[in-house]
Amino acid sequence: MGDTMITINSIDVVYGDFQALFGVELHVDVAETVSIIGANGAGKSTLLRAICGLATVRSGSIVYRRDDLAGVPAHRRVSAGISMVPEGRRIFPSLTVEENLLVGAHTGRKGPWTKDAVLQTFPLLERLRKRNTDGLSGGERQTLAIGRALMANPDLLLLDEVSLGLAPVVVKQVYEAIPLVQAQGTTVVVVEQDVNQALSVCNRFYCLLEGRISLTGRPGDVPKEQITDAYFGLSSVEGGH
Ligand code: ATP
Repeated sequence: MGDTMITINSIDVVYGDFQALFGVELHVDVAETVSIIGANGAGKSTLLRAICGLATVRSGSIVYRRDDLAGVPAHRRVSAGISMVPEGRRIFPSLTVEENLLVGAHTGRKGPWTKDAVLQTFPLLERLRKRNTDGLSGGERQTLAIGRALMANPDLLLLDEVSLGLAPVVVKQVYEAIPLVQAQGTTVVVVEQDVNQALSVCNRFYCLLEGRISLTGRPGDVPKEQITDAYFGLSSVEGGH
């Protein structure tokens, strides 16, 4: 891997008096897919929000390509190529599928993701193109949310718990899209509670435990047991198991 897309240098992130992240360090290379795994409340969404400029970074730094993002407002980060699909698949209910996609292109950034490219990558959306979004299933809404984020031609796509509330078969379909996105050169960060799903799509992963990185590596290189320990915080138990 060559250039680095984003480097996070020992950030502490706070919500008022509550500290959610402690000295978090990570990097994502250009065109890599990196998964962030961790239990409920471990700080995964907070990490994405910090990258987007939606959480308070008390110390440390986030460097996007060569630019320190300190003080850069969220909307400027979007126009610089950082797009997030937030938890909860927010889409515009009064618009059709196609109109929702077009809204995603408002940044005017050039790149591989035109409406046609998105519809080709997600045949499901092609079939639903003229439909109003009211009657869409959870999986269809999630796919649309990803398609809309791609329309901004992000260099860095952040996906927050895309599997939440979806049936396993639908989760599988949504995850099948990630390698297609990566194949276009888009760098992807996937936040996920479902460890198997997260590990199946990534080049590297980081595990968060109570606001700290507890493990990092490549999925094939790290024994499953070590990942489970890092996820649940069992590594400090004397003698292991
Ligand atoms: P989940 O899977 O539940 O989304 P997560 O790993 O994404 O979990 P975060 O949502 O980042 O975790 O939350 C990390 C910690 O920060 C939790 O203890 C949570 O209660 C707290 N937290 C999150 N958002 C806020 C907020 N707006 N104000 C105060 N505390 C918050």
